[in-house]
Amino acid sequence: MPMRYFAGDSSALGDLISILRGRGLAVLSYRLWGDLPVFGEVESLRDLSIGYSDVQGPASYRLVRDERGFFRHSYYSPKYALHPPIQDIYEASNGLRAVPARVDTAPMALFGIKPCDLAAIEVLDRVLESDDFYRARRSAVAYIVVEECVEPGDTCFCGSTGTGPAASGGFDVAYARLEGRVLFRAGSERGLRLLEELKLGEAPGDLVERYDEVMEEARRKSSRLPPLDAVIKALEDSAASEGFWREVSARCVGCANCNMVCPTCFCTEFIDSADLSGRARRQRQWFGCLSYTYGQVAGMHFRPELFMRYRHFVLHKFVFYQRQIGLPGCVGCGRCITWCPMGIDLGEVVSRVVSHGSG
Ligand code: SF4
Ligand code: SF4
Repeated sequence: MPMRYFAGDSSALGDLISILRGRGLAVLSYRLWGDLPVFGEVESLRDLSIGYSDVQGPASYRLVRDERGFFRHSYYSPKYALHPPIQDIYEASNGLRAVPARVDTAPMALFGIKPCDLAAIEVLDRVLESDDFYRARRSAVAYIVVEECVEPGDTCFCGSTGTGPAASGGFDVAYARLEGRVLFRAGSERGLRLLEELKLGEAPGDLVERYDEVMEEARRKSSRLPPLDAVIKALEDSAASEGFWREVSARCVGCANCNMVCPTCFCTEFIDSADLSGRARRQRQWFGCLSYTYGQVAGMHFRPELFMRYRHFVLHKFVFYQRQIGLPGCVGCGRCITWCPMGIDLGEVVSRVVSHGSG
């Protein structure tokens, strides 16, 4: 499809939300719930987190009211909508017949998601392709609208993982907010029809030029890791360096926050419960490989020491996913850095692995 750019202002974003809601879709985006930055349903432009900026650093997150600021994300990602933290799997009553739980398949649109989170959905699509519950939720997504990251945060490294700051595929509409104007482009025929409904004009040349400049600068800012090939090779070579992994994980307390906030972590455990009325149910809830109990099997433990669990997390993200699904499992969103209570910076760890290997 030849690239066509359209221009509007932020009211066009509100119109796009109205069009999607007019089609009976729940529109889900990053939004504020009181003071909490969450991922949930929005009804209008007012609900989007425009006018706020998230200032992120290792173990640090501040939400700042800033009309000219740029909001990236919080601990919530679209994973909450597609692979919820807790999900009913089976229900059973006195007859002991277990029936699969109903999955909410109300149609939805993901709106304004960042390119790293779009890339995370591609990872989940591959990993969970045979998971009926994920597939049912994923099939309910009728449109994906992406907001390109004109201003990556200090913890972001999507430029290094090739997952941002611009969106490269798998979306219907992408937009970038640039100095009071909004530049739109379509990523699918359906997206193009949506943009035609907005009745926007073709974007002027100066806006497209500005977009190219801003995205180039954003790419530079978010490319703080060594080249990905070097990272993968160094991580593979480092696996046996126990002393190195003990040292880089020395501050880790095994809380598994990094697993919980990561948009590509998908592991779950099962919980069975019954009540006095004779009803029982099985649920699954997110579980993380950094937790001690994750590695307990039949009285044994396959990663008893914390450095083993941290090493597994990092190698899984960059090496094992690549082997299993042909994509890195890290999309460079930086959430595990911000929400790690000990301020462990995955970008720094990975850079140290490369310098350790070449040193
Ligand atoms: S490992 Fe960290 S930076 Fe990478 S995708 Fe997960 S949360 Fe984001
Ligand atoms: S790396 Fe940080 S967030 Fe992850 S388990 Fe260790 S202390 Fe918790």
